[in-house]
Amino acid sequence: MDISKRAQKLEPSVTLAASAKANALKACGKDILSLTVGEPDFTTPKNIQQAAIQAIESGKASYYTPSAGIKELREAVVQHVETYYQLNYQASNVIITDGAKFALYLLFQAVLNPKDEVIIPVPYWVSYGEQVKLAEGVPVFITCAQENEFKVTVAQLEAAKTEKTKLLILNSPSNPTGMIYSEAELRSIGEWAVANDVLIVSDDIYGRLVYNGAVFTPMASLSPSIQKQTIIINGVSKSYSMTGWRIGYAVGDETIISAMNDIASQSTSNPTAVSQYAALEALTGEQDTVETMRQAFEARLNEIYPIFAALPGFKLEKPHGAFYLFPNIKETLTMCGYSDVTKWVDDLLAEGEVALVTGAGFGAPENVRISYATDLETLKEAAKRIRAFIEKKTAK
Ligand code: PMP
Ligand code: GLU
Repeated sequence: MDISKRAQKLEPSVTLAASAKANALKACGKDILSLTVGEPDFTTPKNIQQAAIQAIESGKASYYTPSAGIKELREAVVQHVETYYQLNYQASNVIITDGAKFALYLLFQAVLNPKDEVIIPVPYWVSYGEQVKLAEGVPVFITCAQENEFKVTVAQLEAAKTEKTKLLILNSPSNPTGMIYSEAELRSIGEWAVANDVLIVSDDIYGRLVYNGAVFTPMASLSPSIQKQTIIINGVSKSYSMTGWRIGYAVGDETIISAMNDIASQSTSNPTAVSQYAALEALTGEQDTVETMRQAFEARLNEIYPIFAALPGFKLEKPHGAFYLFPNIKETLTMCGYSDVTKWVDDLLAEGEVALVTGAGFGAPENVRISYATDLETLKEAAKRIRAFIEKKTAK
């Protein structure tokens, strides 16, 4: 039987594919260093693990939960947003989802009609465009210059706007670039969105992972009208090292949240109960481990940035958040005799035993993504291998 046209058109996640490929080679005994997937290498903090064990043993994790998530967790999200954004919401403005990825999926399913346009600044996180297409929307990609730290400008938004423009996706700190929009930049974009009645999807998942004094400004906090025009997407995967637990959330307009909830009730029923209790402890328990992990990422960034920036042909500004480096390697490709970044990444894996993610999946075919959510020793050894691979290719 034919699979659907929708599924045929879908590009699978390049980040997950690159990671799976590296893991398959490792399983065959190859000594691969994988800097692919963006997931913290720390185990989930002990207090969170204990809360999950307690939820299982007490029996409360045995049952379905409300499809929007347990009330305590929705209220904890309200509290969290109040603490970190100084904004007031009710539990009815919150839905708990199976990871932030599914919050985005539900949002697009809930608000997009066929041919509605969604502005996505490039480089973008790999799932945005594909999820928009699954909802029959049209992604409108705006290429952002590396010289402007890959940030979209109001002039670019104005040029891309049509009467079909419905959403704008912003991700600050950004995956893959690690760049952060300033308050002034966000304010002008937010005011543009309000004036043009464009809903802002603010993917804040790296909001607590900022380094060297950089500040994360939540879009929703800029004014009451911008708050109304914004849906916050967030989750516990990155700040609490809980990728495997699959808990994310969306916060915003009650009508939109309620439509998302209806779709969730007909698809997943509810996020896994035990994970919700774990996430409850993450948001309400002690927060010191978040800071310890943040400091570890910051120390790694400061140590490895100069090493990777010095690789032959790599053009790379120092990121301010998240845990990725996103160098432009156009010169490296030319030096090595390649015209295609994906081929270079494939050969680096086969011959140099280092796995990176091709920038092509992020809309940036001159770049590669390097995740530094791994230990320093691996990162330094990977840089050595990349240098040796480039030197081997240029010597030919
Ligand atoms: N947004 C961005 C920008 C991401 O990098 C990720 C990575 N997983 C997600 C959303 C989704 O996170 P999760 O589904 O693990 O909560
Ligand atoms: N967001 C992570 C990444 O970009 C996880 C992989 C994914 O969800 O695609 O690597």
